[in-house]
Amino acid sequence: MRIANTPRAWVEVDTEAIAHNLGIARQAAEGVNLMPIVKANAYGHGLELVARRLDREEIAFFGVANVGEARRLERAGVSTRPFILGPTLPEEREEILLSSWGCLISSPEEIAHFESLSAAHRDNRCSLHLAVDTGMGREGFLPHQMAEVVQLLQGAAHIRIEGVMSHYSAADEDPTFTKQQLRIFAGSSAEIRRRFPLMYSHIAASAGQLGYPIAPANLARPGLMLYGIAPMDSPLSGSLRPALRLLSRVVLVRELPAGHTVSYGHTFTTTRPTRVATIGIGYADGWPRRIAAHDSYVCISGRRCPILGRITMDLIMADVTHLPDVKAGDIVELIGPNLPVTQVAEWAETIPWEIFTGLGVRLPRLRKGALTHLSK
Ligand SMILES: *Cc1c(COP(=O)(O)O)cnc(C)c1O
Repeated sequence: MRIANTPRAWVEVDTEAIAHNLGIARQAAEGVNLMPIVKANAYGHGLELVARRLDREEIAFFGVANVGEARRLERAGVSTRPFILGPTLPEEREEILLSSWGCLISSPEEIAHFESLSAAHRDNRCSLHLAVDTGMGREGFLPHQMAEVVQLLQGAAHIRIEGVMSHYSAADEDPTFTKQQLRIFAGSSAEIRRRFPLMYSHIAASAGQLGYPIAPANLARPGLMLYGIAPMDSPLSGSLRPALRLLSRVVLVRELPAGHTVSYGHTFTTTRPTRVATIGIGYADGWPRRIAAHDSYVCISGRRCPILGRITMDLIMADVTHLPDVKAGDIVELIGPNLPVTQVAEWAETIPWEIFTGLGVRLPRLRKGALTHLSK
């Protein structure tokens, strides 16, 4: 029996491009510390694949969404500490403390809880970052609470505050609001810094880093830009290199006569004899169903092939009448140099972040070059 060792749809990842983009993030400010964001399976690129490569670079933390992702990083054997970007649940905090993972605090209750956990374990390994809500409305203390927070922290002998942080909510849309957030953050963090020696201060994700000064912060949290997509124009944007290709294969090619319907709901009918390629990817893989409402296409050998009818769960159909040589097994590009993720996001009426993070668990993440025998 011959066992096929090739998937019918996969994600190809160029980890060197991601390392290159980390270098670009470093250029945004001299001496800036970096927390590459690898949450949501490294924006669909494969958490372990990306983290093992970036672990070789000088970085402060890996940004993750939850303890599950932090555990995956530990199991992958990387030495950089995970930082949990969102609020923590009470039952997660003991593990966070004893694992020395970084996390943020937003309330007097959290200060009290971490203080009692640290006292019980006679342990101050926790690295807490005090979050300030400068307008995101998602986590953090309010700026007017800073005096109260300083007092609470002075009474909490067992915990260590390692950083102060906030999060821009409109860096790619509203410069006035963003500058106001930075001013509020500068004031609040100065108040905390006067009392506590802090190592880290951070507020910017990719857009904030590309579009605004880093200071008075000293750490940046690049996400999307690491994966080669700039959320806003800046002198550095042009140097970013996309790191991912979404590929699939033709599984069947047939000639359909004029007047034949294609896919669910028979929304498309051929108007001429049509060569139709059936391709091994669908919405279950994260290829968005709603893009069929637009003039969307996939690429074979760099040539555009219009998608015909609705996207199904596991398969799509494309018009290859203009490509007489296409046959079963041929590679199809769905995200890549000929079809950028920004175009797919536009068709799907969403943002590139959602397209990347929606790439399904069924797609193997393969390092670039792993399937060279298939490439052409
Ligand atoms: C996701 C996230 C980032 C990264 O955002 P990008 O826009 O992808 O760069 C940074 N900081 C926090 C708190 C986040 O949740």
